[in-house]
Amino acid sequence: MNKLEITKWLKETDASKLAELYEKANKIRFENVGDDVHLRGLIEISNCCCRTCGYCGISAINSKLTRYRMKREEIIECARKAVTLSYGTVVLQAGEDPGLDGKWIADIIREIKDKTPLAVTLSLGERSNEEFQLWKDAGADRYLLRFETSDETLFRKIHPPAPGQGYTNRIEILKTLKKIGYEAGSGVMIGIPGQTYETLANDILTFKELDLDMIGVGPYLPHPETPLGEEMSAGLKGENQVPNIEEMVYKVIALTRIAAPESNIPSTTALATINKATGRELGLNRGANIVMPNLTPVEYRKYYEIYPSKACIYETAEECHGCLSGRIASINRTVGKGTGSRNR
Ligand code: SAM
Repeated sequence: MNKLEITKWLKETDASKLAELYEKANKIRFENVGDDVHLRGLIEISNCCCRTCGYCGISAINSKLTRYRMKREEIIECARKAVTLSYGTVVLQAGEDPGLDGKWIADIIREIKDKTPLAVTLSLGERSNEEFQLWKDAGADRYLLRFETSDETLFRKIHPPAPGQGYTNRIEILKTLKKIGYEAGSGVMIGIPGQTYETLANDILTFKELDLDMIGVGPYLPHPETPLGEEMSAGLKGENQVPNIEEMVYKVIALTRIAAPESNIPSTTALATINKATGRELGLNRGANIVMPNLTPVEYRKYYEIYPSKACIYETAEECHGCLSGRIASINRTVGKGTGSRNR
């Protein structure tokens, strides 16, 4: 599909045409990645952050948030739980936290790789190339870094530089990660103020161009303690502005599956937050093949508040696992075994 066709689909409102799009995406999903849904256990290891991203509730701007950083033993314990629950992957995610020492992270990666069969995915923000290399050498398999939007002007608006540094380009960082040998994952938020249909079509084409292992797309959910959240309180403006609504998320999941048939696409927690009853299942039936159950200890979860009313913040790891496995079975899909890498 070219940019014009993708843009047309993003603007489509006819329910029967959209049903055809979803059917096509679901068929392509089945033909390329099968019926398995891979579970990737998410460990939110720190909510400390030095960045001031305009959209994110854990940004340094939010002075009201209680901050935490998990201890090494707690992280290892979560990884052990992932093995008990038969997950193939753990994702270590955090704010961009300079307090997470590069060598300390490398030691944790090494310990998880030594003691478990898990694939290790990192999602720790923009770090130095030396640290990316150190973590790869320690055994990390994948790195997730959403480029958030392919519109450079909009990216600079919503993603100011780290203190004392210049603007960064996440698309270039993703290329570096791939060169180092990571399976690279990325994605965007849908409906950020200033995001047009053309921008979002470009995002989807960029996914394809980058040949990503994983592509995560979810709705932008305004957080009241952020600049973008305040801007949103006046409502989204302009006829070319993408709305942050549920249907738009399904369209983007489906179009992403069509553009990148073999990639891993999660049905995200942000989607489950706007439709707690059936969002996960609808995402899986419209192109997605991954879910990310939360392994973060319950006492920390409420503080990883990137947006309000986040789904799954009160369940234990076991409850989260039971709920998601039930949802997967209810749509006649199977829980995948192994690490679920794209080149499996
Ligand atoms: N610090 C790392 C980074 O920036 O890549 C990882 C953590 S960051 C919180 C993970 C992702 O959360 C971001 O890439 C962004 O897309 C998403 N996110 C943050 N705030 C959000 C919001 N208000 N609504 C929806 N998604 C949000």
